[in-house]
Amino acid sequence: MNSKWNGQFSCFDLVARTADEIGERSRTVIPLREFEIGGSEFVVMAGPCAVESECQLLRTAEAVAAAGARILRGGAYKPRSSPYSFQGLGVEGLKILRKAREETGLAIVTEIISEEDVELIAEYADIMQVGTRSMENYALLEALGSCERPVLLKRGMTATLEEFLQSAQIIALAGNPQIILCERGIRTFETATRNTLDIAAIPVLKTVSRLPVIVDPSHAAGVRSIIPALARAAVAVGADGLLVEVHPCPEEAMSDGNQSLNFREFHDMMDDLQPYLAIQQETRELRPRLVVGGAD
Ligand code: PEP
Ligand code: MN
Repeated sequence: MNSKWNGQFSCFDLVARTADEIGERSRTVIPLREFEIGGSEFVVMAGPCAVESECQLLRTAEAVAAAGARILRGGAYKPRSSPYSFQGLGVEGLKILRKAREETGLAIVTEIISEEDVELIAEYADIMQVGTRSMENYALLEALGSCERPVLLKRGMTATLEEFLQSAQIIALAGNPQIILCERGIRTFETATRNTLDIAAIPVLKTVSRLPVIVDPSHAAGVRSIIPALARAAVAVGADGLLVEVHPCPEEAMSDGNQSLNFREFHDMMDDLQPYLAIQQETRELRPRLVVGGAD
């Protein structure tokens, strides 16, 4: 890491380590139901890009839970680049997510796109997802400061790590220290993948900040074939978890089908990760903890 970065982020005092703390390994741990994010467990969040129907979501929830996921993802409000693309089921989608939560015990992460929806989404979600397009929506970030739910903050697709941490600081300063950072690939000149997974961002963020860092290999890759390799890389560099798109029939998905794994592919990926996770586990358990927030 560029040595000039030591202490560079200390002005973001609620999310970054100060220059004095750089050598320390204490971590923010976010308790959620019967597990923790940023603690001793590598936490996998999985599910479809968008909630499309009750049948699609419940089937997916059962499949990802059986393969070891702890958290079900699924967008009810979709910020699509094209106004002609599927925009999500809205409240109906939230209700389907709630049903899946009741039936499987999985926690729910779902995207929020407007500060006006904070109360509504907090009623249904265990984790509030801020998408890449909203990382600089400062009104939304501030509103999430008082929502008493952990926030999964995705890196803006053209954001530097400093800008990423700045957005995290806004949420923390507004009163919510429960923040999970998510590297989901950035825009570069490369076109072979949808985005470029900035794998170096994970060890850098884990050095300069105290927050849990997860990786979304799906939006980085844009194609399902390389997702397992990116997931292995995420484990190897010390990520705290994954966010992966899974669909019962990716060919028929209403959004992001090309980068969605089917049930078998997800199951195989989880199996293949086990030896890598076993190595990572030894170091995870040694880390000092700083627990923030608490499940309700
Ligand atoms: C998503 O998670 O489906 C999503 C829209 O991701 P991103 O904000 O990273 O594009
Ligand atoms: Mn998606």
